[in-house]
Amino acid sequence: MMTMKRKVALITGITGQDGAYLAQLLLKKNYKVYGTCRRSTSEKFTSLKHLNIDKKISYCDFDLLEFSNILETIDKINPTEIYNLAAQSFVPTSFNVPIVTTDINSLGALRILEAIRISKKNIKFYQASTSEMFGKVTQIPQTEKTPFYPRSPYGVAKLYSHWITINYRESYGIHASSGILFNHESPLRGREFVTKKVTSTLARIKKGSNEVLEVGNVLAKRDWGFAGDYVDAMYRMLQQKNPDDYVIATGKTHSVKEFIDLSLKYLKIQYKWAGKGLNTRVIDINSKKTIVSINKSFFRPAEVDLLIGNPMKARRNLKWKPRTKLKELVKIMLDHDLEYS
Ligand code: NDP
Ligand code: GDP
Repeated sequence: MMTMKRKVALITGITGQDGAYLAQLLLKKNYKVYGTCRRSTSEKFTSLKHLNIDKKISYCDFDLLEFSNILETIDKINPTEIYNLAAQSFVPTSFNVPIVTTDINSLGALRILEAIRISKKNIKFYQASTSEMFGKVTQIPQTEKTPFYPRSPYGVAKLYSHWITINYRESYGIHASSGILFNHESPLRGREFVTKKVTSTLARIKKGSNEVLEVGNVLAKRDWGFAGDYVDAMYRMLQQKNPDDYVIATGKTHSVKEFIDLSLKYLKIQYKWAGKGLNTRVIDINSKKTIVSINKSFFRPAEVDLLIGNPMKARRNLKWKPRTKLKELVKIMLDHDLEYS
């Protein structure tokens, strides 16, 4: 009888949102899962604990800035698949620390690809690319063929790792795929991102907190999906015979303002929008209090105004499609935040 060798996955950035959901998926598929993490003085296993998988993962002390450590990790654990999810992933921070962001987000991917090449092992590689590479969009909706025009050091750095992934595929025949993922959210999303900021703050306000939700450009539009759906696309990419690049998106776009509307409606807060420009605000009709206001400091030096992806290629080749609609995503996030925020 033929025995199937157990697949071994190395997930960089396992303490992040996607790392947690991907680990959950791969564990269900009986993978041996290794996750990388950096030493920290603060608790970082919250997401993995929340999914109750923190004890099922083997951890490696790992930093994308350290080449020898990447090489040694690969040598030691012999992964069959590497998912490079680690990144400095917050756009505003990339304006404040552009050089470190570039080292992690650009050279980090190159270091792994070099380690794979040098090791001569048969390892499949997934790179976490992003719709931020489309930036000031030149086509609507965006596909794998849309020209890139990044608008932040984050987007520029991710564009490098996208192309170096393609280059190593074409130069050395490495099974390296790049997933151009549009924004995806969940209860495990970092609190600085707009969706989680909105749901966690409004949930607290609903429970009686006196705070005001301060946001930036509410006119920006994003194609928001659910992270749990999107990690499945990453897995599918690495199961294909041939590596390739894929847009992963819902094909729908909504403004930040609409996201706030959906959240307020789900929370059954009676409200109205008032004012214009920087004076735009949301007033709670019952308490007469301002519960949402605009703060200039949350605007960016260069903005990405509109993102909307066309995931047809993924649908055709990977048989992948998004399952969770925005309204459902808002409900999932708010139900969680009403309990935990
Ligand atoms: P998170 O910010 O939640 O997680 C990022 C992870 O990267 C954390 O585990 C972090 O670890 C780790 N990390 C940061 N710097 C380093 C480093 N120098 N060495 C090793 N690990 C490091 O991101 P998400 O889970 O939301 O996103 C996953 C990937 O997908 C990222 O690359 C992101 O840029 C990309 N992406 C995300 C999208 C989204 O909408 N979520 C959209 C498109 C792309 P630590 O805890 O130590 O800081
Ligand atoms: P991004 O698309 O990866 O930058 O994800 P974010 O969730 O950080 O931002 C999405 C959009 O929301 C951007 O166009 C931001 O300018 C806009 N936005 C408006 N207000 C805020 C805010 O208070 N925080 C964040 N993070 N974004 C905001």
